Amino acid sequence: MASEIILQVAIPAPLPHSFDYLPPKPFSVEDLKPGQRVMVMFGRQRKCGLIVGLQSHSHIDSQRLRRVLKVIDREPVMDGTQLELLQWASGYYQHPIGEVISSALPKRLRDGHDASLRGQQRWRLTTEGYATLPNELSRAPRQSAIFAWLKQHQQGCDAAQLNMEFNNWRRAMDTLVSKGLVSIHETTCLPVHSSSPTTSPALNQHQQIAVDAICSRLRQYSSFVLQGVTGSGKTEVYLQVIEQVLTQNRQALVLVPEIGLTPQLVQRFQQRFAVPLAVLHSGMTDSDRHCAWNMARSGDAPIIIGTRSAVFTPMARPGLIVVDEEHDVSFKQQDGFRYHARDLAVYRAHQHNIPIVLGSATPCLETLHNIEQRRYQALQLPERAGTSRAPSLQVIDMRHQRMCEGIAEGLIQIIKQHLDADGQVLLFLNRRGYAPTLLCHECGWTASCKRCDGHLTYHAAINRLRCHHCGAEQPKPAQCPECSSEQLLAVGEGTERIESMLRENFKDVPIVRIDRDTTRRKGSLEAQLDAIQRGEHRILIGTQMLSKGHHFPGVTLVGILNVDQGLFSTDFRAMERMAQMIIQVSGRAGRADKPGSVVLQTHQPEHPWLNLLLTGGYAALCKALLAERRAAGLPPYSHLGLLRAESPSKDTPMRFLQQAATLLRPQLEQGTQLWGPIPAPMEKRAGRYRAQLLLASARRAQLKKLLDIVRPQLGELSDARKARWSLDIDPVDLY
Ligand code: ADP
Ligand code: ZN
Ligand code: ZN
Repeated sequence: MASEIILQVAIPAPLPHSFDYLPPKPFSVEDLKPGQRVMVMFGRQRKCGLIVGLQSHSHIDSQRLRRVLKVIDREPVMDGTQLELLQWASGYYQHPIGEVISSALPKRLRDGHDASLRGQQRWRLTTEGYATLPNELSRAPRQSAIFAWLKQHQQGCDAAQLNMEFNNWRRAMDTLVSKGLVSIHETTCLPVHSSSPTTSPALNQHQQIAVDAICSRLRQYSSFVLQGVTGSGKTEVYLQVIEQVLTQNRQALVLVPEIGLTPQLVQRFQQRFAVPLAVLHSGMTDSDRHCAWNMARSGDAPIIIGTRSAVFTPMARPGLIVVDEEHDVSFKQQDGFRYHARDLAVYRAHQHNIPIVLGSATPCLETLHNIEQRRYQALQLPERAGTSRAPSLQVIDMRHQRMCEGIAEGLIQIIKQHLDADGQVLLFLNRRGYAPTLLCHECGWTASCKRCDGHLTYHAAINRLRCHHCGAEQPKPAQCPECSSEQLLAVGEGTERIESMLRENFKDVPIVRIDRDTTRRKGSLEAQLDAIQRGEHRILIGTQMLSKGHHFPGVTLVGILNVDQGLFSTDFRAMERMAQMIIQVSGRAGRADKPGSVVLQTHQPEHPWLNLLLTGGYAALCKALLAERRAAGLPPYSHLGLLRAESPSKDTPMRFLQQAATLLRPQLEQGTQLWGPIPAPMEKRAGRYRAQLLLASARRAQLKKLLDIVRPQLGELSDARKARWSLDIDPVDLY
């Protein structure tokens, strides 16, 4: 007897390989293809998996193999190119293929729903239906009633309308369809697009050079870095390149940071192009997401715009990928399958042989290094589009200033000047709440979280203490729990405190605070941003939510209240991040014809990095930071893999990592180092102790080879089941 075909099925489970199953019975081999989803029994659970391969034999005895319960799809939901991408990503990020595939599918497909959802169905009479006389259906009263009703509704009806009018209409409707009297149409779930697109503005010289450079290579892989400050016209460049891509009947995928996918941006695309736009983000319903995914896959949506996970959206005719604000950390998935959407996007561009454009005012050091190595081509937009001018930067030395709740006297004066001149003022502080610490004046007790190695933040509006690491919350004590003193001091400043100080000092000035506490309700951030646009608020105080992507044309002054936070962090990327933040926040000022100023408050005006940034700009600072990274053997001059472990019991994570280190050490080749294990910078968080082990290698292939060998053995270690552990390739945060 010829041996049966074996299906290799990827199933979301923390095991690195796929699983062998037999086909269902009866089933012909021609109907089985990689990329189809199947229902299987996995242990005692029913799970939805995906066929990744067909084989003629299994290393498992076929007597012991189970049969697939059901093949869900007639046609694959993923093509070979997509499977190849995910298999590559699974290997690169050392993450189980089943989980990788699962995170690349919309939830409804992951859950095993029918793949063919495409918006809503509508039923409509066919030409034949209109030619039919009602009495021909008189022996089937329900069909006849539906028929008569559809005749009155020439636009057709959807299920909701039919449900209101008829009971049990579906069977009768199916009969009408099979008789050819009624046809089913599908409406799209995509937002209505403009029927009269706006015309594109004439490009300035630099924009034109950029558009020409990209468009001259539309049918081949190349990586471009479009470097320009906010307002320099990057989005306009994307739009005009996409215009070219559409004329070639190809699709464009645009990835934006989480906070960058605003209704304004979507609108700008909608107004420019008279084509359906598939928008993908985490806030949408499962069926809208599924629909957008399908429209992208079929090619019905020529433009796809989405956040991180949209990098997996399949395209029928890929033509271009854009990653806007490529330096943004939200492109890195921080749990589960820890991929970087920008890096996967570059891989995809390679795969499809199409160009990719990475846009940013502040490209990350990895990207700048790629430019240096001539892997990426830089395109500069040195000027601001339109008439606006670049802002001036100024430092205020806090050491010699009278401070008013975190704002120097000198800055208060500057704020007054700008308000008097009718400008808007934006103040930026990356710390929400009223005060980051509550301190007993008598005995020195500080309020700290029981579950974390951190202080509780005082929130005055609700008079409570909150942990910003685990969310724990409690009322503010009236007395010190140690010495019963009532002299409890709120030490340091958060946005809430700055806001109340400003309200005292600027009595008649409308002030708005924007941070996670004031924007919890859905839609409230949009509403507040709109009010700012309309000029309803004169002083804006906020956290980094305010630092990204938004247009604030009326803002003439930006104050960064505490630059020092970034200068002394243990994270080797802290200075890079700080510089990006300063440049990005500065980009909020002086967008229209009013010139902008930026004021930085610091206790370290002589700090060399800060000075380099102020005198030489972002490029000069990055050059120095790169030299430092090279000397220290840090990325981009080395490649990192971080093994993290955590557990409610204190010693388990370190013990597990010691065991892992013992496995790794004999395999280390020259050029690869092992650092640790060490407890995480914040060892205890949300009641769990955390530790980490860092691998660094000058050669990526070496690191991968090592992990290919060791990773499967990690799960076998004696403490592997006691600790929760994960492997992070190219970690962006080392905690
Ligand atoms: P960025 O994406 O770099 O922030 P945008 O493309 O959003 O820049 O451009 C900033 C502003 O300038 C927008 O209001 C845009 O409409 C306008 N703009 C961009 N390019 C031009 C141009 N060539 N002519 C006129 N206005 C432009
Ligand atoms: Zn006390
Ligand atoms: Zn906590």
